[in-house]
Amino acid sequence: MFRTPIYRGGLIAALLSAMVLTGCAAPKHAGPTAPDARVYAAAAEINASPEPSAREVSDEEAVARITAIYNQLKPAALDVCRHIGEDDCNWELTYSPEEEINAYASDSSTIVIYKGIVQYARNDAEIAMVIAHEMSHHIANHIRESQNSQAAGALIGGLAMAILLGATDTYYPDGVQVGVMVGAMAGVLTYSRKQEMEADYIAAYIISKSGFDLEDGRGILVKLGRISGGTTSTVLDTHPAGPERVAAWDLAAEEIRSGSPMPQKR
Ligand SMILES: [Zn+2]
Repeated sequence: MFRTPIYRGGLIAALLSAMVLTGCAAPKHAGPTAPDARVYAAAAEINASPEPSAREVSDEEAVARITAIYNQLKPAALDVCRHIGEDDCNWELTYSPEEEINAYASDSSTIVIYKGIVQYARNDAEIAMVIAHEMSHHIANHIRESQNSQAAGALIGGLAMAILLGATDTYYPDGVQVGVMVGAMAGVLTYSRKQEMEADYIAAYIISKSGFDLEDGRGILVKLGRISGGTTSTVLDTHPAGPERVAAWDLAAEEIRSGSPMPQKR
């Protein structure tokens, strides 16, 4: 019992240093934050939008369209990537024939676009937005950041649980283990939400510089919001709620139209 205060002091110091570590991995090119009124207006727009529907598309057509749009995006994506300077700017495009409105970025350069994106998109700008968004996860170095964030989250979770229990892992080995797991999940999920917003922001620049219409590209965010059905966002949400993304997209579009040449650091 008498050792507890000393132990806690050490835990708190370690907890604070873990928080500093997380702070270092915060997105550098996060877009402007949308005020509540804009988010509410976007929520109303999403709720009033028609239910998205999928068209019949062959794999050949989907691959041809995705490839052509990817090639159109590449020169501007390279410019933006070099400007940001955090990635080696090589991307490998992969097509998935699954009929699901989905896409992801993984490994050092992989971008996977599902057939469902082409099925639900109503114009090339919507597909371009999704491809540019995944490129942006690589451009902003999100995959490596996630790994760091997960480690920091695990540390914070474990330590927070140990402090909460007021004991060392000698007495509560199970409690500490649970804390580590919860922390790891919270670290990765909350961070990913910020990364999604940053990827949208960078993508707006890429598609605009590639000649796609920002207003058209915005349509895919409205559809995603409508499909997910969520009008509110929570901390533990890997995909930020639709209204927040739509409202932030509009602010990015205003920034670009006002003459901003590249994503800005904030
Ligand atoms: Zn994303």
